[in-house]
Amino acid sequence: MNATRPNIGQDRQLPIIRQLDETIINRIAAGEVVERPASAVKELVENALDAGATRIEVAFADGGKRIIRVSDDGCGMSASDLPLALARHATSKIDGSDLLDIRSFGFRGEALASLGAVGRLTVTSRVRHSSEAARIAVTGGEMAPVSPAALARGTVVELRDLFYATPARLKFMRTDRAEAQAITDVIKRLAMAEPAVSFTLRDITTDGEGRITFRADAETGDLFDALRGRLSRILGSEFTENAIAIDTERDGLRLTGFAALPTYSRGSAVAQYLFVNGRPVRDKLLTGALRAAYMDFLSRDRHPAAALFIDCDPQLVDVNVHPAKAEVRFREPGTARGLIVSGLRHALADAGHRASSTVAGATLGAFRPEPSGPPRVYQMDRPSPGALRSAYAAQAPLVEPEGFAEAASPSARIEPAPADSPIQDLPLGAARAQVHENYVIAQTRDGIVIVDQHAAHERLVYERLKRQMAENGVAAQALLIPEIVELGEGDCARLMAVSDELRLLGLTIEPFGGSAVAVRETPAILGEVNAKALLSDILDEIADLGNSTALGARIDAVLSRVACHGSIRSGRQMHAEEMNALLREMEATPHSGQCNHGRPTYVELKLADIERLFGRT
Ligand code: ADP
Ligand code: MG
Repeated sequence: MNATRPNIGQDRQLPIIRQLDETIINRIAAGEVVERPASAVKELVENALDAGATRIEVAFADGGKRIIRVSDDGCGMSASDLPLALARHATSKIDGSDLLDIRSFGFRGEALASLGAVGRLTVTSRVRHSSEAARIAVTGGEMAPVSPAALARGTVVELRDLFYATPARLKFMRTDRAEAQAITDVIKRLAMAEPAVSFTLRDITTDGEGRITFRADAETGDLFDALRGRLSRILGSEFTENAIAIDTERDGLRLTGFAALPTYSRGSAVAQYLFVNGRPVRDKLLTGALRAAYMDFLSRDRHPAAALFIDCDPQLVDVNVHPAKAEVRFREPGTARGLIVSGLRHALADAGHRASSTVAGATLGAFRPEPSGPPRVYQMDRPSPGALRSAYAAQAPLVEPEGFAEAASPSARIEPAPADSPIQDLPLGAARAQVHENYVIAQTRDGIVIVDQHAAHERLVYERLKRQMAENGVAAQALLIPEIVELGEGDCARLMAVSDELRLLGLTIEPFGGSAVAVRETPAILGEVNAKALLSDILDEIADLGNSTALGARIDAVLSRVACHGSIRSGRQMHAEEMNALLREMEATPHSGQCNHGRPTYVELKLADIERLFGRT
């Protein structure tokens, strides 16, 4: 028996039921809402946003454990409202008539009451056009009377000594640095959703003035300009330069934001920011959909980067499912998922052959001469024109100078396109040479393109196979003897619910009584399959995402392997026409900018980049 638990029910004496007092109730509630300093910051900044603030300043000391102060220029509160604002279940944001019509961050009326129960809370506020400001303080749940105060406008909420009243909680705090990082993350997430609001974050641990640790000024312009500006500020301009703008709608749900090209993927899911009606959420359904949208372009250990916003009528989504409001529940989860998957797939297809600039950018960065430092002077003896000519003849030149074609080595023997050839105007330009038997060098109007022929061709074959499969369906192969697979409770019904979908992918199953199914046909392209393992994969996926992409994913993986074998190996020499045909097909094929593992299939260097390489600019 558990020694710490009272022996309820076995003692003669009945346990006594007590009504807990308000302070204890608030402390218990605070446990859910305020887990750490960053959650207090989140509640206070959300209140400022709900109050219509356009400037929000946050200051903290000792990772927020000693001081958190949030100042805003919002609507403010009157002196008579201050005690009410601190009371539990008191809110100005809903009247309680419709919990499915929530248009503000807050609605539970719990945050200030909870913070006042676990720290020393002071709220100073001034309503616009009112002659003076007022202040109220609450310490460990004890409220002091309202007093006059000095404040030009808006509200300042200061929370000192968080969790001093609940020392057990303090023990769970991480280092000041970790807590400060969590606060920064909270501010950044909220700032992404509110580009028109300016945010400043200050660390005042050592002095009152403090040190600005994050700042984002209000962005102007239309929705996308403002968002692009804000995301560049927070995620870096590399993200926005390598991302596609998304704007799509389906059944009352609108998806906007920016999604990065597959070549700009990350090693973990750190760069995924999802918002529902402006609220940052960490939602399994949505991150699963994001993963599914990129599945075809990224290997399992790479993760897409994106900042996506779903907006809809509040009736279509329930935000009241999580105390810190970090999760939501869609009335039609399938619609939300489909919106993300198809919205992103289309956008990625429209990006066509585009690959990220990061590869060239990173390489250039490594070569770029220090901008400071004295200019470097290179000296060399100028060779005579005759010596140059014989040097060209001796080595395989990268680019054949006009008139040298007959002297070039066989691997670079191509017909040079005339200088004003219109194909140079095409995105991937005119093929000039093949080097190291795997790289095609093409000249564009304002730069050069280097193509990894093997990676590019592999992707083209893969896309071709997928197209054929989409047109003609997946060939199924009947099993001589159907395989009977025993499944867990309810699994059979879950599988049969998607059996039509599975049949289209070449997998035919039938109920076999009890909790067993009979597998009659499997996708021919998979060869011999372990039916039980395949079915359990599919079931996992259904549990995870609400539907199954596991079979499709396996088929895609096989296609990708087939493509790899069927494509031009590196080491094969190509003629000019072959190379140009490869470039043209890449331009015409969606997703051809990255190989099946998310690596780029080509790199573009603009003339300006090349000049930078040589320190000319
Ligand atoms: P909720 O945000 O769920 O309503 P809170 O406890 O966070 O609950 O806040 C209670 C009330 O106090 C709010 O409904 C709002 O009227 C008022 N309030 C809180 N913070 C601010 C602020 N920064 N500016 C103006 N009013 C505020
Ligand atoms: Mg609130």
